[in-house]
Amino acid sequence: MRARKLVWPLALVTSLALPASLAAPAAAQSPAAPPASCDPTRTEPVYRGKVPSPEQVLGFELGERPVSAAESDRYLETVAAKSERVVSGTLATSAQGRPLRYAIAGRPGLVTKAGLAKVRTEAGLLREPRTPDALAERITRHGVPILWVSGNVHGNEPSGTDAALRVLRGLGDRTDCAAKAILDNALVVILPTQNPDGREAGTRQNAYGFDMNRDWFARTQPETDGKLAMLTRFPPALYIDAHEMGGTSYFFPPNADPIYHETPEQAIGWINDLYGASMAAEFTRRGIDFFNRDVYDLFYQGYGDSVPTSGFHAAGMTFEKGNSSPYPEKVEEQYLTQWVTLSAAAANRRRVLTEWRQMTVDAHRQGVAGKLEPNQIYNPPNQIDRQVPDRKVRHYFLQEGDPAKRDEVRTVVRRLQRMGVRVERLVRPLTVPDFRPYGEAEGKETLPAGTYWISMAQGQKHWIQAMLNEDSYTPFPYFYDVTAWSLPLLANVRGGSSGAVLRPRAVPVGTVPAPRPGHEGKAPRLGVLQLSATSSAARESAGWLRHRLDRDWKLPYTMLTPADVAAGGLAGIEVLVTPDGPASSAYDALGDAGRAALQEWTRGGGRYIGWQGGTQLAARLGLTTATLSEPTSDIPGTLFRVKVDEDGPLAEDVGGTVWNFTAYDLVMRASSGVAAAYPEADSPEWFVSGFERGAAELGGTAAVVDQPAGEGRSVLFAAEPNFRAFTDGTAKLLYNAILGPAPERAAAPRAAAAAEAARRAAALPSHESPIRVSVRASDAAAAASVLRSVGATWDEGRDGGVVHYVVDNPRGLPTDHHPFAGRLPSLIAEAGIDPVAVTLP
Ligand SMILES: [Zn+2]
Repeated sequence: MRARKLVWPLALVTSLALPASLAAPAAAQSPAAPPASCDPTRTEPVYRGKVPSPEQVLGFELGERPVSAAESDRYLETVAAKSERVVSGTLATSAQGRPLRYAIAGRPGLVTKAGLAKVRTEAGLLREPRTPDALAERITRHGVPILWVSGNVHGNEPSGTDAALRVLRGLGDRTDCAAKAILDNALVVILPTQNPDGREAGTRQNAYGFDMNRDWFARTQPETDGKLAMLTRFPPALYIDAHEMGGTSYFFPPNADPIYHETPEQAIGWINDLYGASMAAEFTRRGIDFFNRDVYDLFYQGYGDSVPTSGFHAAGMTFEKGNSSPYPEKVEEQYLTQWVTLSAAAANRRRVLTEWRQMTVDAHRQGVAGKLEPNQIYNPPNQIDRQVPDRKVRHYFLQEGDPAKRDEVRTVVRRLQRMGVRVERLVRPLTVPDFRPYGEAEGKETLPAGTYWISMAQGQKHWIQAMLNEDSYTPFPYFYDVTAWSLPLLANVRGGSSGAVLRPRAVPVGTVPAPRPGHEGKAPRLGVLQLSATSSAARESAGWLRHRLDRDWKLPYTMLTPADVAAGGLAGIEVLVTPDGPASSAYDALGDAGRAALQEWTRGGGRYIGWQGGTQLAARLGLTTATLSEPTSDIPGTLFRVKVDEDGPLAEDVGGTVWNFTAYDLVMRASSGVAAAYPEADSPEWFVSGFERGAAELGGTAAVVDQPAGEGRSVLFAAEPNFRAFTDGTAKLLYNAILGPAPERAAAPRAAAAAEAARRAAALPSHESPIRVSVRASDAAAAASVLRSVGATWDEGRDGGVVHYVVDNPRGLPTDHHPFAGRLPSLIAEAGIDPVAVTLP
C-alpha cells in the first residue's frame, strides 16, 4: 500500500506538469455556449465550400443509395484533407483487409497533435478519482467532452454510415451557429463503418461470422479490439451506435428492462432525460414515428451501448431505424438522431463533464465501501425478479497457481488492464477472512504471493464488477441476449472475492502481453463440416470455430458441406469437427451416400467431434449411445459448473471442473463414456451463474461424452464449447478432443443402445433460433392468444406448473429484424401476464 501512496501523487504531479495550458485559463479558446436562439436542426446549414459535397466526390448525395465501404473511406478522407477541423486515421483492419477509418472533428486548435493530446490528458485526469477537485473543476470549465458517432456494426444495416458522413461533412464545413455549437463544445470521433466486410457482403456478421455487437468485452475480433483501443485513447462521454431493425419506426432510448445493476445512474439520466428527451421532442415536432422503453435493453455487457456506459461512463445508446423505409428517409432520421444528440451534449458541455467526472468519483467511493449497486426496474409495472445480494465486495483475486492456466489468467488480466483497470500482485501471502471462491462458500483462506489483486476502489469499479462478477443477478426475466459472462468463469480460472477491509502488500502489474497463438504437437488432418450455408446458427458456430482454429490454435483445416461428404470429401481426414446447425436438414442433405460415408469413416477409425446440431447428427447416424431430449427449463445463456472426468484425455490442463455455457441446449444422457457431467442439482457442486428456471433437470446429465464407434470415436458436446470464441475454459476440452490422445479402449457400445439413441434423435423437433415464452399454467390461455394474434406457430410443452412455447423462426431472424419477436414482451405485459421467461432470438 505504501508504494501506491507514493506512486499516485507522483503520477498526478507529472501529469499536472505536462499540459501547461491547463494552468492558465484559456481565455481566447474558451468555448462559448451557443446562443439561445440557435436551433440545432431548424438552423439553415451554411457551407463555406472548403469541403467538396458528396455529389462532387462520389457522384451522388448521401442517402440516395448506401455508400460502399470504399466510398465511405474516400469521402471521409476528402473531408479530412480539405478541412482544418478534421483529422483521420485507421483504428483496425478487418479480416478481409479493409481499414476501419475514423475521423476526429473539432475546433482547429483541438485537432492538432498538441490539441488532441490535451483533450486526452484532461479526459484521463477526469477519469482518475485521485485528481484534485480544483483541477477537475478547472477542466470541466474549459475542457470538452469526447463524443463518438458510429454506425453499421451490423453490415446489413447501412444507413448509420451515410448519416455519420453527413454529420462529418457538417462539422468539417458548416459555419452556421448549430455546427459551431458542436465544434466549440466537443471533440467528435466519427467511425462511419464498424464492419466494412459485413457492409460489402450484406451480412449482419463480419467475415468470421461474428455478431460484433456481442463482442465488446471479449474483443476477439480485430475490428472490436482496435475500436476499444481507440476508445481507451479517446474515452467517450457519448457513444452512438446506429443500427437498423425491421419495420418503419425508429427506436432510441430510454431502454427496456433489464438494465445491468452496475450501470451508472448519471449515465442513465443522460440517456433518458437529456438525449432521449431531445430526440423525442424533435421526432414529435416533425411527426416522425418512434418508440422507446421497449425491446432494446441494457443488460448484456458486450454491446455497443452497455460497454461504453459501464466501461467508460458514457451515454451509450443504440439507435434503430426501420429498414422498410426508403433509404433517403432512413439516412435522414439517422442523421437527425446523431445531430440532435451531439447538439444536446454540446449545449450541456459543462454538465456532461462535471457528471462524467462525478461518476468516476462515485464509483471509486462505492468501491472503497465495497457497495454493489442494487437492481432497479426502470419501466413500471415491471417487477424485480431477483435482487443483488446484500454482500460487500471490496476485492477480487485471480490465482495463477496452476501453470496450465497461465495463459487464461493472463487473458483475463489483460482484458481488465486494457479497459483501464489497475491490477496488482501480492508480494507476500495474504490471509483473507471472508474469501469467497467463485461458486463456493466463503471462508478464511491465505492467498499466496503472486496472486493477482483487483481492488474495487477504482474509478473502473462498475466495469470490474461487470467483468469479475460471480453472477449477473438478472433483474427481470426478459432476454434479448445471454445472462452470464464472468471472465474468470469463462476462462475457468481460480479466483474469488472479499468484502473485508484489507491492506495487501502488492505491486502494480504492467499490461501483460497477449498469449502466443499456436498448438502443441502434430496437427491432425482436420475437416470442419458446416451443416448449412444459410442457417445463422450454423454460420455463427462454424465462424467462431474458424476464428479459434485460424487465429488462436493455428490449425489448418478443410471446410466441408454435406454435399462434399457425400462426394467423398472425408478421404484423408483424420478428425472431423461438426459445429452447431440444423441436424435434420443436414441429415437430408447428406443423402444415403453422405450418411454412409460419415458412418463408415467414423467406424473405420475417424474421430468425430460435434456439438449441438453436430451432436444430434451423430446420434441420428448411430455414432453414440447418448440420448438427447428437448429441455423443459429456461436457460437463456448461462454458466454451469460441470465435473470433468480427470482420467480422460479431455481433462488435460482443464482440471476437475469447468464452467459450461448453456443456452436451451438439448439434454444429453449417457451410461458410458461421460467425459463431463452436470453435478446433481442438490449437491454442493451445483452452481449457476446467470438466469435459470427449472435447470435442475440438467443435474446428473452429460455435458460431454467420449465413446468408441467401431474403430473410431465420437466426442459429443451437448452445448457450444466455443461460444462467441470467448468460452476459453470449455474450448480447452475441444482442443484436447482435436489434438489429444484417444481414451483407453472402452467397451464397444451396444448396437441396440445406439439404435435407440438414433431413434430418439430423429424424433426431436427442429428449431432455428426460436423465440421462447414460458408462463405459469394459469396464464397459458392468454399467452396462446397473444401468440395467435401475431401469427406465430409453436411447439408447446408443460413441465410442473410452467407452460413452454417454442415459437418457430424458420429464417432464423434476429429479434431486431423479426416481424413480431420484438413486440412480444409488451404484448405479453399488456395481456396481464407476468412471464416466467421471454427469450428472444
Ligand atoms: Zn443492428
